[in-house]
Parts: sequence; C-alpha cells; structure tokens
Amino acid sequence: MTPEFECKNCGTCCSQIPLIVAGDVYHIIRHVKVRPEEIVHLYEMDDFEEDFAPDDQLLQMENGVRVMGMKRVDDRCVFRTNGRCAIYAHRPLMCAMHPYMPRDPNEDVLEFNVQCHHGCKGLTKGPMSLEHLKRFRLAFDRFSEREWDYDDMVKRWNRKDRKDRSERAFFKFLGLIE
Ligand code: SF4
Ligand code: SF4
Repeated sequence: MTPEFECKNCGTCCSQIPLIVAGDVYHIIRHVKVRPEEIVHLYEMDDFEEDFAPDDQLLQMENGVRVMGMKRVDDRCVFRTNGRCAIYAHRPLMCAMHPYMPRDPNEDVLEFNVQCHHGCKGLTKGPMSLEHLKRFRLAFDRFSEREWDYDDMVKRWNRKDRKDRSERAFFKFLGLIE
C-alpha cells in the first residue's frame, strides 16, 4: 500500500542541496525568467553532509569533481522564498517526487514508500488513490527519463579529450547559454 502524504511545508527538504539534472534546468528557464548561472551551482563532494555518491552525475571540471544542484542562498534553495517554493509548478522532478521512493524502480509497479532522511514533518494517512498512484508513476517515469538523459550527457562531458572544463563551457555544452 502506498500511503497518501500531506506536506507540512516546513521547508526542511529545501534546506538540503537539491540535486538537479539538465532536464530540470531546461524546464525551469523555459517557464521562469532566470539565467542558468542564477539557479545552478556545481557543488564539491565536501559540500554534502552525508556520504553521497551519485556516481553517474560526477562532473570532471577544471577545479575538480562537481555535482550539479540548485543554488542556495542563506542555506536554502534559491527558490524558497516567503516560506514557499516560488516555482512550485515547475520545480525539479526530484522535489516533486519527494518524499516518495519507488519500491522497485526497474518494474512498472504502482507502489511507493514514503522515505525522507531529512526529518520530514509531513504526515502519511490512508492509502493513495489508484488515480493519484497512476499519475505519480507517470511522474516517476518522467523523472527517470530525465536522469538517464543527463547520465548520458555527463558521460559525454567527461570525455578525456575535452579541453575547456569551465562552468561556462559546461553550460554551453548543455545548451543553456550560447
Ligand atoms: S525548487 Fe522549490 S521545492 Fe525544490 S528545493 Fe527549491 S524551493 Fe524547495
Ligand atoms: S520536509 Fe516534508 S513536510 Fe517539510 S516541506 Fe519537505 S516534504 Fe514537506
């Protein structure tokens, strides 16, 4: 049974480093008037409090290994303003999925666990309706596609013969700037 979840909007999850993939950034800048460098930050592994190894998303940059995430201001995501998400309808899919985790991501199973490592204050209640569950599974499949696409981009970016590994070159490579 997948429980229905009620978010209490405590903002705890927005005070972590929200990881993003290229598809999230394309989606945000298509709908919100921002430049990629205003919302994207390439984090060092030391920036993460917990052991964290998104192996497929490690970027070989000129100043070391980096991972792409949403920029933070005052220890919160840049879009967390006035106690809410300013881009809620266009938020990254990882945010939209939170705190659900698929029981088996490799199978087309309509079952999710509610799981958060950040002291989530939300409540679980009752079983999720079948209609909601199907919508959620679709969202998860879109999320997976974005991740696979990005994993492929990261492999191409990390090719050994690449000379310019600056942040600007990376944004150009992703097609975020000209
Ligand atoms: S994009 Fe919105 S939901 Fe996601 S971390 Fe930022 S403020 Fe929170
Ligand atoms: S930590 Fe849980 S309750 Fe708090 S904003 Fe995030 S999802 Fe909602």
